This record gives sequence, structure tokens and C-alpha cells, in this order.
Amino acid sequence: MSSRTLSRLEPQTGTAFLLSAGDTLRVTDPEGEQVADLIAFSREPRPAWLSSGRSFDYNDTLYFTTGHTLYSNRSVPMLTITADTVGRHDFLYTPCSAETFKLLYKTTGHHPSCFENLATSLAAYGVAGDDIPTTFNIFMNVDIGKDGALTIRPPRSRPGDYIEFLAVMDVVVGLTACSAEMSNNYRLKPIDYEVRPSK
Ligand SMILES: [Zn+2]
Repeated sequence: MSSRTLSRLEPQTGTAFLLSAGDTLRVTDPEGEQVADLIAFSREPRPAWLSSGRSFDYNDTLYFTTGHTLYSNRSVPMLTITADTVGRHDFLYTPCSAETFKLLYKTTGHHPSCFENLATSLAAYGVAGDDIPTTFNIFMNVDIGKDGALTIRPPRSRPGDYIEFLAVMDVVVGLTACSAEMSNNYRLKPIDYEVRPSK
């Protein structure tokens, strides 16, 4: 019997956990219009990370959905998207960070961020903040204009919408409930996730 673990990320929080090859990760937006940043790292045979650039290279798209495989910086498949009820995610923007809020949103003082939440959670797995590359931003809705202009729109996800990833290799995953007001239509909400082991 395989056991499932259903977990919740409270608003503006993050976590990190291991996935074994063959495991499935489902990320659900319970209330709708909420982004979840995801990143993955592998250790064998040498440390590698989920690469937006390699994933663009081998899928010929900026928009990823069911059937697409996400690659490491060494061009090895890490995660395959096996289900997706939304069909719009972003792989261009870095995780929101203290600098995002300072430079872009002119926030003063501390503001929770995906970067901080990822760095804090991934430290237990030996991943430093400087190791965190561009995240796969689940449910983040970015329009790409003909001139290349990027516009952040409210996520298209409705309550209960989800995306599933099959781990092609053993990976450490970092996952957040995004802290950036604008990316989440100005209401910060939880994110649910569930790991379905292959055995
Ligand atoms: Zn964020």
C-alpha cells in the first residue's frame, strides 16, 4: 500500500522535502489565484539544479504543461508534468525576494518572500541561497507581449486546481506559497501539496 501525505503551506511560507524517482507531487491551489514557487536539486552523480534555460531549449516553449519535461542544468530530465488543470505557469521570473520588494515595490522593512522561505527550508539539505536559480512558478500568470514585454496577471487557477510532477530522478524540492501581493491578485493564500510514492 502506498501512503499519501497531504500537507498545507500557510500563506507566505515554504518548505523543502525529498522526492524519490517515481514519486508524484501534486500541488493544489485550494482557494484559487495563488502562486507556488518550485525548485529542485539533485545530488547524484554531482549536484545539479532545475534549469529554466535547458527546459526552454528542449521543449521549445516558455509555457509548460502536461507532457513537458523539466531539465537540470546538465540536460538530464528531473521532473515531468503529468497533469495540469490550469495550463499557465511561469519559468521566467526569479522567486520574489527582499530585493524584489525593495527595488520593485518600494517596500520598507522586512517583507516575507519566496527566496527567503526557500533558502531557509533548503538549508537543511545543504543548499545555500546563492544556489537557488530561477524557480518554476506554478500558477503564476505572465503575459509575454509581441515586443517581449512581460505583464504579471492574476493566476488563472480556480479553487481546487492542481498540477502534478513525476520525479524522474531523486530530488530535493523547495516549494512556497508565494508572498508577492501582485502575483496573487492582492490576496495571499495557502497552497496544498501531496506526495504519492511510487511504492
Ligand atoms: Zn513569491
